[in-house]
This record gives sequence, structure tokens and C-alpha cells, in this order.
Amino acid sequence: MELTRACVSDLIKGMLGPKKKVYIKTFGCQMNVADSEQMALLLANDYVPTDRVEEADLYLINTCAIRRKAEEKVRSLLGSLQVLKQRHPQMLLGVGGCVAQQEGERLLAAAPHLDLVFGTHGIYRLPEMVRQAARGRRVVDIELTRGFPAQPRRHWRPGAVKTLVTIMQGCDNFCTFCVVPYVRGREYSRLSGEIVAEVADFLAAGGKEVTLLGQNVNSYGRGLPEGVTFPELLRRIDALDGLARLRFATSHPRDLSPELTAAFGKLPSLCEHLHLPVQSGSDRILNAMNRGYTRKEYLQKVAELRRVCPGICLSTDIIVGFPGETEADFEQTLELVEEAGFDQAFSFKYSPRPQTRAAALPDRVPGEVQAERLTRLQNLLNELTLKAHQRLIGKIAEVLVDGISKRSREELCGRLRTNQVVNFSGPRDLLGRLVMVKLTEAHPHSLKGTRVEDPTLSSPLADDPQSPQRRVSC
Ligand code: SF4
Repeated sequence: MELTRACVSDLIKGMLGPKKKVYIKTFGCQMNVADSEQMALLLANDYVPTDRVEEADLYLINTCAIRRKAEEKVRSLLGSLQVLKQRHPQMLLGVGGCVAQQEGERLLAAAPHLDLVFGTHGIYRLPEMVRQAARGRRVVDIELTRGFPAQPRRHWRPGAVKTLVTIMQGCDNFCTFCVVPYVRGREYSRLSGEIVAEVADFLAAGGKEVTLLGQNVNSYGRGLPEGVTFPELLRRIDALDGLARLRFATSHPRDLSPELTAAFGKLPSLCEHLHLPVQSGSDRILNAMNRGYTRKEYLQKVAELRRVCPGICLSTDIIVGFPGETEADFEQTLELVEEAGFDQAFSFKYSPRPQTRAAALPDRVPGEVQAERLTRLQNLLNELTLKAHQRLIGKIAEVLVDGISKRSREELCGRLRTNQVVNFSGPRDLLGRLVMVKLTEAHPHSLKGTRVEDPTLSSPLADDPQSPQRRVSC
């Protein structure tokens, strides 16, 4: 994902005189996207973002270590940048984020053309590191501080309708397959007042949709002296004027409390979508993963969510081929997938990550067995997603228009409250607006629709957060 395209250049343009240019390549999750935005803002005194690699004075790679494949992509990119660095020896090259945190000095040793390595907390010390690198010093900063390393800067461009707000980071769960607690540090939440003020400012600037971010977002508030729980934070944000849509990611099933489930039926802005990673359908494997819930508990939570919010769209993450996973374990995962009726899912082959407990487990599942299971799982998941899309055909639903369709430059695209992508024809002045769309075609990854012109259903009404029509959902 290219950060520079997304949101920072407009914000910074014109603030200061001529500057050097920074190109930021972002791998991984929304947390990394938010971190890249922080990097651009922190560097704004000296650099403006560019999306043209060849004009970069500073090239930063923000990395993801969650799976081996993601890490391999970073290493491959880093290798290929040797040629660019030879052509532009003045260009500084830095690697940040999770792989940098994990590898530190080893990255510098392996890549002589690399100038700086900064970890997940080192982001906030980036300007000084870049200054040192510009003086010819190769720098590494992978210190993990206690708590939030710094107050995140606010990062939306004028006219933005959606924003990401990091509310906590780190994780104390230590799932046995996951590197996050080692590369992001221990769990720490921001004070609720700071978060609410940040959202209020975004809404005052015309924003409509906010996504609250954290590695284990629904355990927000643990350890804070103020005693504000995650559902309470949602209530405070929902009460702000002008908020049309509120989302959050990523949730841990164990921390999905009855109070949080009830919020889906109560808070008008809270979108009818929840990403709730299950990882496996086998109790034996869930236990080996240290997930802290059983298959039955997970399915009970899903049933309660669907009772409270019948139209809710559920998405999940699943790992296949975890050490010791038998065919019977895997079949339990397939059964759980059908029973939970996921609308969307991300599925992966297990890959051992450094420092994690699972990396030392015996009974590795052979690669070809992992691949075969992943294919079977993905076939089932694709079928479920398509059926979920087909069930929406004929309905009229609210779309927040946020871009031009990837399928055709003539079409706009946006998302339903339930998170599915919708493409439809319409003038570009609808960008950033809430409109009503009749859903007409189901595709594997998106839907197609026609804008409903009926004035009682179209955008002015939909723009009103109090309008009952705003909540049309599947
Ligand atoms: S809860 Fe999520 S981030 Fe934390 S260790 Fe488990 S998988 Fe990793």
C-alpha cells in the first residue's frame, strides 16, 4: 500500500519552503498505514512525500513481520534497491517497523546500502536519525519504550472523510504463533480524552468515518488509571456530532464482552461489521495457539452478535497447518467456518516466526498438506462470500463514496456499513459523500449497484446522522 498517494501530501504542501522528498513503501496492516502517516508528519519539516521513487531523497520501507512471506517481500525489495542506491548515492534508505524491530543490526550487516533501521517505537525519533544518516552515520534504533512512545500526530488531509485513529498498541496475549508482542511491545492504551478530542477535531473538519486501531483493540483501557472501558470509549465517540460511521480493528474473541456485543445494537454510528479472528476451529489447536477461548465459546459469541445485530457482517482470520494440526482438526475448522457463516475471511498457511513459542513446536505440517488445506478452505470461504453478496442483491444500502473504481475509471467505489466494496456509476462530486445505492450484481470481491435518485433516499438525507434511512444494512 502506497501511503503517499493516500493522505499526507495535501496536508503538508505549502506549509514550508522547498524541501527534499520522501517515498514511503508500506507493507502490512492498517496499524502500519497509520504509522507511515506518522512518519510523514514527523519528517514534514524537512521532507514532502512523493509517490515517484526516482525523485526520492529518502526512501523508507515500513515492514510487516507477521508472516514469513511478508518478511521475504521486504528482503527482496531491499535487495532490488541496491541498483537505485547506486544510481542515486545521495538517497538515504531506511527500514522501519516490525522486521526492523526484529532484526536490528542484522539488517544493516546484511544490506551495506542501508542507512538506517528503526523499530516500531523508533518512528518517533525518526527525524534525528535521518539527520544523523545524512551526516554519514549508519543508525539503528530498536529501543522499545514503556507505554506510548509519543503522542501520535493527527493525520488527515483537508477534505478527508475517513481516518484511522490509533488508540492502543502492543499486545500482552502472546498467542504462540504471533510475533507482535515481541516487535510492538507490551499493551498500552492512550488516554480517552486525547482520543475523543482527536475524533472531534476530525469531525469538525468534515470527517464522516473513523476506524479505531489497536493490535488488541477491544482490550482498550486495561492498565489505564482512568477506568474507561472500550465500550465506554465507543459510547463517548458515538455521541460526538457529525459521526456517520465508527469501526474498529482488530478484536480478540476473548475480549468481546457482553457489553461490547450490546453496543452493536445500540450505538447508531457503530457499523454492522466485526473482524473477529478465530484462527482455528479445533479446541486442541486453539489451546496450542494460546488463544484463550474454545470453539463453543467463539460460536456462542457469534450467535449473540447475530441476535443483537441481525445484519452484522463477520470477517475473520484463519491459519491452516499450525504444528500438530491433523486432518480432523482441519475439518473442524471447515465446520466452524460454515456454522459461523463468515462473510469475509483472510486465510494463511502457518509460518514459524522468530522468538514465538510455536516455532519450537514439533509435528510441523508438510508444505504440500498446508497448501492443499488452504485451497479447500479458500474455496469454501469464497463460496460463502459470494453467497453473502448474492443475498444483498435488490437491497438499497448506504455507501460512503471514497474513490474511483479499480474495475473502471468511469465508476465510483465505496463501502457499505457492512464493509463490502460497491462500484457504481456517478459523478465525481459524489466523492466523500454518503449515497444510497441499489445493489444489482454480486461478484467474488465486490458488488455493483445503481445510485438511487429518489430524493427521500439520496445523500442529503443519508448525510443526516439521525436519519433512520442511514442504517439500511443487509
Ligand atoms: S492477540 Fe493478536 S496481536 Fe496479540 S499475540 Fe495474539 S494474534 Fe498477536
